[in-house]
This record gives sequence, structure tokens and C-alpha cells, in this order.
Amino acid sequence: MIRVEDLVHRYGATQALDGVSLSVADGEFVLLAGANGSGKTTLVRHFNGLLPPDEGRVTVDGRPVDEDVVAARTSVGMVFQDPRDCFVAATVGADVAFGPENLGLAHEEIDRRVGEALAAVRMDGRRDERIDALSGGEQARVAIAGALAMRPAHLVLDEPFAGLDWPARTAVLDRLVALNDEGTGVVVVTHDLRDVLDVADRLVVLSAGRVVEDGPPESVASRLAVHDVRPVAADAPP
Ligand code: ADP
Repeated sequence: MIRVEDLVHRYGATQALDGVSLSVADGEFVLLAGANGSGKTTLVRHFNGLLPPDEGRVTVDGRPVDEDVVAARTSVGMVFQDPRDCFVAATVGADVAFGPENLGLAHEEIDRRVGEALAAVRMDGRRDERIDALSGGEQARVAIAGALAMRPAHLVLDEPFAGLDWPARTAVLDRLVALNDEGTGVVVVTHDLRDVLDVADRLVVLSAGRVVEDGPPESVASRLAVHDVRPVAADAPP
């Protein structure tokens, strides 16, 4: 369980989060939408202690994130917008192994986790391939595998579909749905809700650093335009 209470975050004079309270239960599939600059990225960076609160508090499984960042990062896996910036190794297997290696796990356990994580994103058998030779969709799936190898309770993805074509997007979304079916909580930050409304349990909308909608996607969707969020992008396929 991720719990955010009265969270305020400022960048100098900019108040990016203006008193956000929100809980994400284990196993939930949550969409976080909102116009550009509404505070989405800032909010999720608080989920695992990448940013410290100016006011308010964030707990993961009841523990304040700033008191136990390691526990928070184990429970909440984060996949950033442009995975290319985040790879730490040249090959698929070495990159996915990086997190578990840093946990100091035994070789066999690292190997098992890498195998499971790659299987979960349908990249098994491709450990030795170079990441820079993969397609954008494949790179996105390797980035997800890297987070999964930590066996997080929640997987948080910031704009995971950015730059992906429709088949790659569908492949990534299919993997997220399958992971969620198996029990991993999924939080997707996206400004592009085309095909994700149907698969999520809940849609949270931010506007100017505040939560302005929070409910089942089918009931929130009709009010999206009010908050400057387009439910269907202009280039959506039929
Ligand atoms: P979103 O993810 O919804 O686009 P962000 O969380 O990135 O929103 O940004 C929220 C607000 O904080 C915006 O006004 C943005 O310009 C500002 N902001 C974000 N990151 C920084 C930063 N590193 N320094 C200064 N201002 C920032």
C-alpha cells in the first residue's frame, strides 16, 4: 500500500504538488492522468523517495519512505519515461541483473529473477542481445523487466507508451495487464488514455498539483475534457 497524505512539493517558487492525498492498494491498476505540468511525474517520484516532501508524508506499507528508502524502492519499482537514459549495461541480461546484483543476492537467485522478469515481458532467450540493437518497444519491455527483477509490489511507469508505435504499445500494455492479473500493482502515468481506460481499476486526474478526479475510469472519463485531458488522441487508430 502506497499512502500519500497532504503532500506538497515545490521547485523554488513553483508549487508542483499542492496538498495531494492518495492511497494505492496492493494489486490495483491505477491510471494517473492530467495536463502537462499538472504534477504527475513529481507525484510518482515521491512514491519511492526520489524526491523528499516539502510538507506532508508518504508511506509504503506503513513505513515513511524517507525513513526507509531501500524498503520503498524494493516495494515500488519505477520505470522512467525514456528507458534509453536508464540502462546501465550493454546487454539485456546484464541490465536486468543490475538491480538484484545490488541487493547482494546469490548468483542462482539473480539468474532465476532475470529469467522470470524477461519471461514476463516476453524477452526470454534474448539475454545476450545488445540493448542498443533492440526496437523501442523491446527496450521498453527490458526496462520493465529491470524493475520486475526486484519483485516489486507496485510497478510505476511514467509515460511508458511515449514514442512507441501501436503494435509496440499494445505489446507493452498486454504485459502490464498480465502482470497485474498475477498480482503486481500497476500505476501508469499517461496523457494518452486511448486503450488503457478499459484495463484499469481506477483513474486519478491531477490538475495544478491537486487531485481533481479519482474513481472508476468509466465514470471519470466523461469529465476529462474539463481538466484538459483528451480521452482519445487525434492520431488514435480506428
Ligand atoms: P507532469 O508530469 O504532469 O507534466 P511535472 O511533475 O513534471 O508535471 O511538473 C509539475 C510542475 O513542476 C510544472 O510546473 C513543472 O514545470 C515544474 N517542474 C517539474 N520539474 C521541475 C524541476 N526539476 N525544476 C523546476 N520546476 C519543475
